[in-house]
Amino acid sequence: MDSKVVQNESMDIRKTDPFEKCFKFKEQLQKIQSMGIYPYFRMIESAQGPEVIMNGRKMIMIGSNNYLGLTNHPKVKEAAINAIKKYGTGCAGSRFLNGTLDIHVELEEKLAKFTRKEAALVFTTGFQVNLGVISSLIGKDDVVIIDKMDHASIVDGCRLSFGEVKRYKHNDMEDLERILKETEGKSKLVVVDGVFSMEGDIVKLPEVVALCKKYGARVMVDDAHGIGVLGKTGRGTVEHFELEKDVDLIMGTYSKSLASIGGFIAGDKDVINYIKHFARAFIFSASPPPASVAAVSAAIDIIENEPERREQLWKNTNKMLKGFKELGFDIGVAETPIIPVIVGDDELAFKFVMMLQQEGIFANVAVSPAVPPGKALIRTSYMATHTDEHLDKVLEAFHKVGKALGVI
Ligand code: PMP
Repeated sequence: MDSKVVQNESMDIRKTDPFEKCFKFKEQLQKIQSMGIYPYFRMIESAQGPEVIMNGRKMIMIGSNNYLGLTNHPKVKEAAINAIKKYGTGCAGSRFLNGTLDIHVELEEKLAKFTRKEAALVFTTGFQVNLGVISSLIGKDDVVIIDKMDHASIVDGCRLSFGEVKRYKHNDMEDLERILKETEGKSKLVVVDGVFSMEGDIVKLPEVVALCKKYGARVMVDDAHGIGVLGKTGRGTVEHFELEKDVDLIMGTYSKSLASIGGFIAGDKDVINYIKHFARAFIFSASPPPASVAAVSAAIDIIENEPERREQLWKNTNKMLKGFKELGFDIGVAETPIIPVIVGDDELAFKFVMMLQQEGIFANVAVSPAVPPGKALIRTSYMATHTDEHLDKVLEAFHKVGKALGVI
């Protein structure tokens, strides 16, 4: 696009054109692209399994959140196809007006049971759950307190709220207590990730809950990466710590273990009912399509009936945690199927990921602001459906690239 806009000659184009930032960005982007290390929007030409096809080539996928490998499970696909046959492809409206199907309500009942909460509410994306829930609950007299590494959708939910927003150092209970003390006497909600999406560590939930009880705050857990992965029966971080009765709100996405797209919030029925009537991201957005809803429902059945998938996921995870450590990589505080390999410099991380690609490995890169500056990392994540052979190849490739780039 031409960077010149038609305007009065006396105007300073830099101060008067909101597009100016786009033209500057284009220059920065071109620099990275000309170096051949631009790692985003890579096209995949197949289903998202332990292997994917890119540019006609088979790659080992370690950049997906498909933890249990259910996006390709025959029962999940069959449920989605049958839902399309019965209900068509979309609802053409919001839950609030014309877009509530019987399967939305059935899924809400199933999710409430699954999370052991009174009620649940189905949203169209996980991102919208955090926008809608936080902004509807936090008014001008309330305080919302979040971990500095909480997901972007939580941060944006806070931005949309009219309340006071406070952030504490990642998983740092002293810092959380300092803020809780500072805001004593005020109405407060603490929102945490169950599993942190970049670091791959688990929230110190028993401590968070104890502090919230001490200072009279409500607790909400975003368990996007915990559901299907953690807990005796795959119910997530809250089950892992056996704190179902102590956590007020459990949020989940369908875009990870639940093999679909969408999200939910679960909690006491009065609170869910309020959110249902005041969350703008819920009321003013079309409801999740039938195929997505049916896929989630089938995925929950599989989580309950096939515990061996979760066991295999943890076998794979433990193998990779050990493997990376033995090779001498810095994997920070990782303890879940999300294993970051910290390399530090942004450009080095870009190079690393593109060299992995040449070795037939698809991994993701995370640079600031997704991670703190100087802490660029290769985000790797594992599935129940990876084989030992896949994982050995991944470790071999990391060894080769890590040595070549002087990371190990
Ligand atoms: N919360 C967390 C912790 C996430 O990682 C994500 C997605 N990456 C979301 C919320 C948003 O979920 P969705 O992709 O379903 O919109």
